[in-house]
Amino acid sequence: MNNYVIFGCPGSGKGTLSQFLCYKDEAFEQVCSGDLLRNEVQKGTSLGQEIDALIKNGKLVDEEIVSQLVISALEDFLKRNKRFTLDGFPQTPYQKKRFDRFVDANLSNSLKYVIIEINPLIALQRMVNRISCVNCSKIYNLEFLPPRVSGKCDFCFFPLKQRNSDKAELAKKRIDLYSDVTEKIVEHYKTEKQTIVFDGSRPLEDCFKDYTTILL
Ligand code: AMP
Repeated sequence: MNNYVIFGCPGSGKGTLSQFLCYKDEAFEQVCSGDLLRNEVQKGTSLGQEIDALIKNGKLVDEEIVSQLVISALEDFLKRNKRFTLDGFPQTPYQKKRFDRFVDANLSNSLKYVIIEINPLIALQRMVNRISCVNCSKIYNLEFLPPRVSGKCDFCFFPLKQRNSDKAELAKKRIDLYSDVTEKIVEHYKTEKQTIVFDGSRPLEDCFKDYTTILL
């Protein structure tokens, strides 16, 4: 039974793929570093305020903080015997070192790396049309994955909002940060034998067909 680590630039559809796998197979649960960080912001602690300021500026959050949050979430999954999809982590050499150590000790036979490659202009277009649930973080797209009722989450009926970090200027900054920092990490995972690469620039229905055949 595989767990998946999903890589791709902001807007490539990592969160959408995680959501899709969790929806199709309830053995999966989603771990998303951005959601873990937003949960900390919601707590309103001074750490949460620091994280909020970095997210609002399109900057990476302190790598020790992110690593601890993600790895303790993954440890919890292992204890509960759940499968996970992880997205948003690792993104830097330090995070990769922490993650690889965790994988070697706990997960070496049950992990696959998924890389979604996408034209950055298409990713940007998707980000500016993206909205998400303020309660459960489910992602929608005004253009090609709209909610059933406008402005309301299909699952919990809470309001849908555009994240500040998806507004055009910040979205572009985040894509640039990905190509400057994270792409090198992803190139490394690309050489691993348990890696699967998808072309995420295609229409979503085509991507979903491949995800169903290859990942489920
Ligand atoms: P996302 O939900 O992937 O769009 O992430 C939202 C924001 O959380 C990013 O713009 C970063 O500020 C922060 N973030 C998410 N994952 C990481 C990470 N692995 N390392 C550092 N910062 C992160």
